[in-house]
Amino acid sequence: MHELSIAQSLIALIEDEMAKHGKKTLLTVKIKHGRLSAVVPEALEMGFTALTMDTRLAGARLELEEIPVVLRCRACSREFTPEGSSAFAPCPGCGEELGHAVVSGRELYIEYLELE
Ligand SMILES: [Zn+2]
Repeated sequence: MHELSIAQSLIALIEDEMAKHGKKTLLTVKIKHGRLSAVVPEALEMGFTALTMDTRLAGARLELEEIPVVLRCRACSREFTPEGSSAFAPCPGCGEELGHAVVSGRELYIEYLELE
């Protein structure tokens, strides 16, 4: 389950931020994840809860928002969002199926932290 290692890296980042700002409590963490990063929100939440249990991060609210996939066609440069969650999809403009550039959808980052 790769969500557990994602949760681990997020917690390390959060701890860094808290130390930097001298904060003691994490209230909310908002995470944006691209559809191609294949994060299962429930699994990430479970991992986060399990790993923060009995730590000062316990009880924080985890908000997740998915970023849709946007591809740019190799042949005609049109940008489009494929229906599935794959980067292999025919371009609605010219039908080209392979070699599209991924404009967005691979992101995984913390959008904001609410600390106290
Ligand atoms: Zn095209």
